[in-house]
Amino acid sequence: MPSDIEIARAATLKPIAAVAEKLGVPEDALHNYGKHIAKIDHGFIQSLDGKPEGKLVLVTAISPTPAGEGKTTTTVGLSDGLNRIGKRTVACLREPSLGPCFGMKGGAAGGGKAQVVPMEQINLHFTGDFHAITSAHSLAAALIDNHIYWANELNIDVRRIHWRRVVDMNDRALRAINQSLGGVANGFPREDGFDITVASEVMAVFCLAKDLADLEERLGRIVIAETRDRKPVTLAQVKATGAMTVLLKDALQPNLVQTLEGNPALIHGGPFANIAHGCNSVIATRTGLRLADYTVTEAGFGADLGAEKFLDIKCRQTGLQPSAVVIVATIRALKMHGGVNKKDLAGENLDALEKGFANLERHVKNVRSFGLPVVVGVNHFFQDTDAEHDKLKELCRDKLQVEAITCKHWAEGGAGAEQLAQAVVKLAEGEQKPLTFAYETESKLTDKIKAIATKLYGAADIQVESKAATKLAGFEKDGYGQLPICMAKTQYSFSTDPTLMGAPSGHLVSVRDVRLSAGAGFVVVICGEIMTMPGLPKVPAADNIRLDANGQIDGLF
Ligand code: ADP
Ligand code: MG
Repeated sequence: MPSDIEIARAATLKPIAAVAEKLGVPEDALHNYGKHIAKIDHGFIQSLDGKPEGKLVLVTAISPTPAGEGKTTTTVGLSDGLNRIGKRTVACLREPSLGPCFGMKGGAAGGGKAQVVPMEQINLHFTGDFHAITSAHSLAAALIDNHIYWANELNIDVRRIHWRRVVDMNDRALRAINQSLGGVANGFPREDGFDITVASEVMAVFCLAKDLADLEERLGRIVIAETRDRKPVTLAQVKATGAMTVLLKDALQPNLVQTLEGNPALIHGGPFANIAHGCNSVIATRTGLRLADYTVTEAGFGADLGAEKFLDIKCRQTGLQPSAVVIVATIRALKMHGGVNKKDLAGENLDALEKGFANLERHVKNVRSFGLPVVVGVNHFFQDTDAEHDKLKELCRDKLQVEAITCKHWAEGGAGAEQLAQAVVKLAEGEQKPLTFAYETESKLTDKIKAIATKLYGAADIQVESKAATKLAGFEKDGYGQLPICMAKTQYSFSTDPTLMGAPSGHLVSVRDVRLSAGAGFVVVICGEIMTMPGLPKVPAADNIRLDANGQIDGLF
């Protein structure tokens, strides 16, 4: 099998207007970025208001392992599969961050024959959305320090500024910095630090905003600091939001590209899946729903984090509701959950598979607890044996009465996901129940955290460290108690210990810290160490990235 980039380069792309036509988007509603990428105009999107919506399909997965699962690949393959069986379908994905591109080799636009293209542009600057978000965030940072420089009328406590700076690069040197050094003219020296752009609250706001007006309001609610008498200070108070919205105006229009099979894909926004909710913009999802019969979208990490936040945050805030959920599993990853090391994955191992099945089982039960119909998409790797696939199907049928379908979209494109597409349609056209969230909006913040931990993670209880407990009480007092929770814990385990694979239970979920994201509209609950500025590995991918003699990018994927 050729590499992802070889497959992507060999593809013949349709002009983007032809892709738009499949969704009924006229050419004059497109802002073209070259031949194969376009933004869909705000005005056109507004004109869709009130149109009936198609069905939403959420693609999520078992707890990730180093063996790889394939949510993006399945999202793309399933979209192509649905299009093949005559359902007008659009895939909705996150935009990749620039930082990881130069760290570990590997793109974020699917793989094999299930990719979105043009993949180099999508993975690099694309339409500049992340630059716009970085700029808007930086503007706010500059305005805050400027406010303090010129008399600090709001009485901001310079020791209690929560707003950090951002850059879209893995750059550990910037995690903690001293700034405003060099004398009176440069302001008041203080400690600061950088996060990667995808960790910015502007990114989360961008992805949850209904429209430009909602974007501006949400930006205004972001709490950036405290006053000397410990009152929250918002971005609206430093008068940042008008200009930030101007910087974000064009970026907020969703980006249209295509799959290798020429089907439409909207790729828009890309918040972290730990300190944020980890899925593409609400605007892109809604646009998809109003233009297509089916919109297939991916949530980051495993279903305990990605799907939970998709449902408890994004769906709760917007009224979106999936009609079916695909849980992606692989034989390899389940064997790892059953105790096998990555280097020992070769060869059939039905016992390990059965043991590791516990992880999938917990995720299936969890997603069903929201009242949603589930199908398991078993992403086929060429090393898998038929007996392993048969075994997994049998386990799914006997223990969970859930259908598991072997998918070969990575090797075969949409044809390899037709069966999954049929199963998804059957579920989506079946009876739909209203969503049951993991907790009530009105519950106390600590009760919400406990509900997630005990109902979904299998934990016995939570333990809130005193610093976090004080902050939670403060949030309740300041009127933020009705916000949903955004859990930031390891994606590798149901517990907070990344080495506990499978389906651990009876553990304690320790809450180390909490943060308010009032603009995005959630309280981030930090269990363990959460990295908001990644570093590069000893041998970064950047070492081998270059332009070849033909001007083509070499070494990126
Ligand atoms: P996720 O979205 O869950 O992080 P991706 O779909 O991006 O996963 O896939 C991760 C990596 O694994 C990609 O490089 C992709 O090409 C590869 N991959 C996915 N499915 C397969 C498969 N069936 N066989 C081989 N490689 C695969
Ligand atoms: Mg992905």
